[in-house]
Amino acid sequence: MGSVQIQCTRCKNVFRDRAARLQDGYSRQCPSCEVVLFFAEDSQHPFVKRAMRNARKVRKELREAEAVRRAAPEPRSREFAGRTQSAGRED
Ligand SMILES: [Zn+2]
Repeated sequence: MGSVQIQCTRCKNVFRDRAARLQDGYSRQCPSCEVVLFFAEDSQHPFVKRAMRNARKVRKELREAEAVRRAAPEPRSREFAGRTQSAGRED
């Protein structure tokens, strides 16, 4: 989770990269043939388009998972609130 498949436009090798990095303007080398792949929103290449579409989808899923996690209560960080001691008797 958090990574997407990328297919090299030259050697067709499939590798993975993090969805968070795969955004408009990103570039990286293919680990197999070392060609530099450029990722742009307006790319016409089907491999690049597919990778960017998948990355967007994964980022959306991560954001939603994060929102759910933040909304859920954290039982371990519960503080000792409301433990007020009754005042002692006054003389
Ligand atoms: Zn390649």
